[in-house]
Amino acid sequence: MERMQRERETIVAMIEMYCKHEHKQMELCESCAELKDYALFRLSKCPFQEKKPACQNCKIHCYKPDMKAQVKDVMRKSGPRMIWSHPYFAIMHIVDTFRKAPDLPKRTKKNS
Ligand SMILES: [Zn+2]
Repeated sequence: MERMQRERETIVAMIEMYCKHEHKQMELCESCAELKDYALFRLSKCPFQEKKPACQNCKIHCYKPDMKAQVKDVMRKSGPRMIWSHPYFAIMHIVDTFRKAPDLPKRTKKNS
């Protein structure tokens, strides 16, 4: 699956799970729907796109503070549930956390 597509599906799955468990809604409540739109918008604007690091490792803090606080809560509550409900997304996210943020100079030591 294409990287950004996976990112979009992951965040949507996490927000949906969050709303279902925390807000007891069958469909996304208004604030979660707003957060989802905002998250997808930020992803579309991410300058790294396919080279995107995991968001928590990124140097750019692109979320505005209130949205950042909301999405952090979503990550905290839905994160542990992802391994059971969406193991592929959960594992791929762990892989992504090992990715270096691309704006850092690559420190590769050449064998000399
Ligand atoms: Zn909600």
